[in-house]
Amino acid sequence: MQNLIDGYRRFRAEVFPQRKDEFHRLADSQAPSVLFITCSDSRVLPSLIFQTNPGDMFLCRNAGNVVPPAGERAGGVSATIEYAVKVLRVRHIVICGHSDCGAVKATLEPGRLRTLPLVAGWLNLVEKAQWIGGGVTAASGDDHDKDLRKRICANVVGQLANLRTQSAVSEGLAGKTLEVHGWYYDIFSGAVEAYIPEERRFVPLENRFPARTL
Ligand code: ZN
Repeated sequence: MQNLIDGYRRFRAEVFPQRKDEFHRLADSQAPSVLFITCSDSRVLPSLIFQTNPGDMFLCRNAGNVVPPAGERAGGVSATIEYAVKVLRVRHIVICGHSDCGAVKATLEPGRLRTLPLVAGWLNLVEKAQWIGGGVTAASGDDHDKDLRKRICANVVGQLANLRTQSAVSEGLAGKTLEVHGWYYDIFSGAVEAYIPEERRFVPLENRFPARTL
């Protein structure tokens, strides 16, 4: 905890004064163009990885970067998506999984979830998504557990399919005011890969978006 307090002191004393105007500009409104849905994992830091500034990304995080399908468990995730699309009018939604994801790992050892009924119920959505996304070619990576990487990528693709069922999203896609993306972040290398639906595989993000297309 002390590192948080020390960091806050540095933020207040050094960082905030330097960026005061930027924060003041944002104090009354926000207009992020991206809703970024990712895992709660402490090693995944979207604003660091993508070098974003305050106001750039609307974030939604949970164990396993889950998006429940429409009609199931309407809760924080579904409400956040609806708000981001209908009120903030984001142009893009990214679902980003990551290497060594504990939520996906846990679905491989259901016995360990016996004393965690809430987690088990939630991870049921990760298990179903892996089934939906099964058969996709996984992103590349330096980890030695290829099967896990394949499952994590299948989970991203499955959650992407769930995302499309959310009414705000299906309307946005039909009206071409919204695009959805499935990404995979490798903690060891720092590389991000993007899913190409037509090819059912992941490619380096810079190949998917070679120029300033976003
Ligand atoms: Zn995770």
